Amino acid sequence: MIIFKSINNLKKKVNFSKNIGFVPTMGAIHEGHLSLIKQSKKKCEKTVVSIFINPKQFNNKFDFRNYPRNLSKDIKLLKKNKVDYLLLPKYDELFRINLKKKIKIKKKDRILCAKYRPGHFEGVLHVINQYLNLIQPKLIFLGEKDYQQYYLISNFIKNKFITKSYLCKTIRHNYLYALSSRNKLLNNKDLHILESVSLIIKKFYFSLKKKKKNIKNLNHIKKLLKETGINLEYLEIRNKINFSKKISKENFKIFIAYYFKNIRFIDNF
Ligand code: AMP
Repeated sequence: MIIFKSINNLKKKVNFSKNIGFVPTMGAIHEGHLSLIKQSKKKCEKTVVSIFINPKQFNNKFDFRNYPRNLSKDIKLLKKNKVDYLLLPKYDELFRINLKKKIKIKKKDRILCAKYRPGHFEGVLHVINQYLNLIQPKLIFLGEKDYQQYYLISNFIKNKFITKSYLCKTIRHNYLYALSSRNKLLNNKDLHILESVSLIIKKFYFSLKKKKKNIKNLNHIKKLLKETGINLEYLEIRNKINFSKKISKENFKIFIAYYFKNIRFIDNF
């Protein structure tokens, strides 16, 4: 695995006219990230993984400071999984260039995480834009766990770059919660709370699929969620194609964001 500390160097050394797959991450690599890497290795000749903890996408200093970091362990894992290139860009390279036009999320998209974390997706899209302005991989691999992020990135890069997005399904622990770097901040007992939350949402998902429950009334589910000890930020059902509130049994997704021990978690079913 060749490690690059600048996107420009990566651009010089790697032929991006070939079939290159790109997996952007914030590190603390886990099986969720590795599943994206496996897809990229399947679909592409070479795979680039990036690790960059983007301060602009955190709205809270505590969250940024506490975000798990373990670069040497990440490097070992990525080597073991035969990643070809690792990109570790510097803040300056991504942020010193002022974009002519600031990236803005459309009003209709300011929902779910975009509503509760102002500036978050602008930060995400800024970094994706800087990457793709310099390197244009064939495919960018994104996880369904961050489905709103996938939706916004896909729309943002469509018609702007040759790169296409590729959605990879959410990898879950045996206890049903989605794998996430932030899980590393919890102990085993805490993780059972995440399990309870996931179980409630999954059950709800299946009862909606079978039309056993009224899609509009979330009060009972919100009550059950609060009883687990979490601090619910939002629970919403949206159309998974266009994120509108026009939903049917076939096209809905349940989105949740919550805090537990002051750590923010998101998931969708
Ligand atoms: P992050 O490092 O959390 O920014 O995630 C980097 C990429 O990995 C994003 O596209 C995420 O959606 C994806 N990802 C994170 N966790 C999972 C998971 N449990 N299953 C699938 N993809 C994931």
